[in-house]
Amino acid sequence: MTDAADLAPIREAVRSLCADFPGEYWRRLDRERAYPTEFVAALTKAGFLAALIPEQYGGSGLTMTAAAAIMEEIQASGCNGAPCHAQMYTMGTLLRHGSAAQKERYLPGIARGELRLQAFGVTEPTSGTDTLSLRTTAVRDGDHYVVNGQKIWTSRAEHSDLMLLLARTTPREQAKSRTAGLSVFLVDMRQARNNGLTIRPIRTMMNHATTEVFLENMRVPAENLIGNEGEGFRYILSGMNAERILIAAECIGDAKWFIDKAASYARDRVVFGRPIGQNQGVQFPIARAYIGMRAAELMVREAAALYEAGKDCGAEANMAKHLAAEASWAAADMCVQTHGGFGFAEEFDIERKFRETRLYTVAPISTNLILSYIAEHVLGLPRSY
Ligand SMILES: Cc1cc2nc3c(=O)[nH]c(=O)nc-3n(C[C@H](O)[C@H](O)[C@H](O)COP(=O)(O)OP(=O)(O)OC[C@H]3O[C@@H](n4cnc5c(N)ncnc54)[C@H](O)[C@@H]3O)c2cc1C
Repeated sequence: MTDAADLAPIREAVRSLCADFPGEYWRRLDRERAYPTEFVAALTKAGFLAALIPEQYGGSGLTMTAAAAIMEEIQASGCNGAPCHAQMYTMGTLLRHGSAAQKERYLPGIARGELRLQAFGVTEPTSGTDTLSLRTTAVRDGDHYVVNGQKIWTSRAEHSDLMLLLARTTPREQAKSRTAGLSVFLVDMRQARNNGLTIRPIRTMMNHATTEVFLENMRVPAENLIGNEGEGFRYILSGMNAERILIAAECIGDAKWFIDKAASYARDRVVFGRPIGQNQGVQFPIARAYIGMRAAELMVREAAALYEAGKDCGAEANMAKHLAAEASWAAADMCVQTHGGFGFAEEFDIERKFRETRLYTVAPISTNLILSYIAEHVLGLPRSY
């Protein structure tokens, strides 16, 4: 469960790549709300985004622990993995539930980065967290499905060739169970764009290429249905543990970045004739943030170890995501406080990382929903919704 020493070269390689993308690169993109095309290209070329794709499909077939180390190092270097992290894990649904032909057709291109699969269309404006109430429909018409509806917060849709889409194929009242009747499709957005698919960017408090997506009589070939019709909710859920673990690892990286910045500033900044870090009122919050980060890191490692051993890690993946998101947000707040006024200055990068890391107690799953999961599935308390 410890971070194997053989991950050190991967960590070093990620750090070295990230060194080419310093704070000023991210500040410029942040001002322009622009996509980090060069950064994503460099990660792709180095093969890091294909970490979890098996070697038989051209990926590097690394473990979840190694993939988590990659995402953590990106964030700990001050960079941002959000513009491309989904390229690493969205393919998991295809890998686990796709047909042999679908895997042969798409995975090698995804591994090479020629095909970008980093759009994930689940959330809708009216249903929100209540995924089973989603309203987008896919109706079979000959050898196609016709899709109508709307998705929101479909991140990276403008920078992706493919989208994993969840839509209802059987009306809720006719479905044989509460979770049945939803299906997953692999949508080729290159064909669908302006052909039933319209993408509109949403400007957010941080530079996050998120969008809303309108689906109007969009035709998807039936061969792009993943697995069996009506079982899509289960397929989507099965991919969520990987997403939770990798995003938790990103939060650990963010927390490490904030703690390093704060400790170094507190050592050097002299006020009242002594380093501010000599005051317990300044050093204790840094120590507290470090303890919180380390505890969360252990849970991330446990979740990753269970995942790669093929064991059920639903509870651990959720707890890891929760603890890590809380740890990164606490570290962010502490880091601003430690820097006083300079915490607000753009050139210190702290306010940018502060805005970026704020996302993770809300998305991809919000704190309350994790607490509900633990209450219901681990503690046996009654379902609350
Ligand atoms: C920047 C960004 C990027 C995103 N990227 C994607 C993406 O790529 N693909 C995608 O599909 N989605 C994406 N999302 C959506 C994200 O997963 C949702 O925003 C998140 O799951 C919360 O859903 P919601 O916004 O609809 O909130 P709501 O469901 O409206 O909930 C609002 C608040 O109420 C709370 N709440 C709701 N119901 C309950 C309950 N029963 N008990 C207790 N509390 C409750 C929630 O925890 C939340 O705090 C993204 C969101 C953002 C902001």
